[in-house]
Amino acid sequence: MECRVLSIQSHVVRGYVGNKSATFPLQVLGFEVDSINSVQFSNHTGYGHWKGQVLTAEELNVLYEGIKLNDVNHYDYILTGYSRDTSFLETVVDIIKELKGTNPKLVYVCDPVMGDQGERLFTAQHISVILCYLSDLKNKTFIIMCVITNHFFRILTGRKMHSVEDAIEVMDLLHKMGPETVVLTSTDLPSTRGDQFLVALGSQKIIKPDGTIWTQKICMDIPKVDAVFVGTGDLFAAMLLAWTHHHPKDLKSACEKTVSILHHVIKRTIKYANEMAGPGKRPNAGQLELRMVQSKADIENPAVIVEARVI
Ligand code: ATP
Ligand code: PLP
Ligand code: MG
Ligand code: MG
Repeated sequence: MECRVLSIQSHVVRGYVGNKSATFPLQVLGFEVDSINSVQFSNHTGYGHWKGQVLTAEELNVLYEGIKLNDVNHYDYILTGYSRDTSFLETVVDIIKELKGTNPKLVYVCDPVMGDQGERLFTAQHISVILCYLSDLKNKTFIIMCVITNHFFRILTGRKMHSVEDAIEVMDLLHKMGPETVVLTSTDLPSTRGDQFLVALGSQKIIKPDGTIWTQKICMDIPKVDAVFVGTGDLFAAMLLAWTHHHPKDLKSACEKTVSILHHVIKRTIKYANEMAGPGKRPNAGQLELRMVQSKADIENPAVIVEARVI
């Protein structure tokens, strides 16, 4: 069965973030991807320079209208990432509502792009737009939300996270806001395997036919690589979409495959970047662009190298 994704994310001429990071791997895995570019930049904002254009809410609406006039506004998934203002997000929410009308089974995968590079912060205002929408649809849909960094959890839930118990509470709070699947792609929690690992967690709420609710919670220790990668969050969200599609009631398998793909891509990237930089030099942003095309085989058939623990 054909599966079609509407992906509203950034485009960059050079490199891999946003749609550039999501489209190819989703296509490799057999998904049809219709992409709307929320921005068109020369490169990601972690370089010394970047230039480009931003799509306004009105321009987004025009593109959607065109698709709708031709009656091809039928999607199985909508995936959103980096967005710079609330009016753009409000239009995204309107589009999601309409798409949900045409397909009640529509799944929304929301990656609230967060970071510490100023420009790319989702603000409390951004979040309230999404949360209003999510609570609107509470229990009526299957929403996947990937969230990141302690800072973000604090804005979303008002909670600080110091332990796995805190993380469980945060994920339960996020469930209450709407999403049936929540993944915290990286936290500052200490790993039981030592400081060379970063901890990611996930929680999935499954409603059984008799109406009872069952949740699966998992924890993963991911081997850290000593460099800052960009576009990894976008790749994570896209791959989580793909693998939860294949394992809709098995977050453990979906996350193991997702994280393993990230691991293979990052390993290939750092090896290449170090070679390009030369001995003793730290690679720059250009050299650290994800080795996406070269990772095609790993994306198609990831060898699982990170096992998730059910907690
Ligand atoms: P942000 O938007 O705050 O930059 P992000 O969207 O890049 O965050 P991360 O959680 O940093 O999201 O990265 C997503 C995934 O990519 C992680 O769960 C991990 O699998 C992988 N990853 C990213 N950076 C590293 C790293 N330095 N070492 C190992 N894995 C990494
Ligand atoms: N989109 C743009 C234009 C960016 O500059 C960035 C990061 O700098 C991202 C998206 C998201 O990157 P990540 O997947 O690392 O969160
Ligand atoms: Mg990142
Ligand atoms: Mg991100």
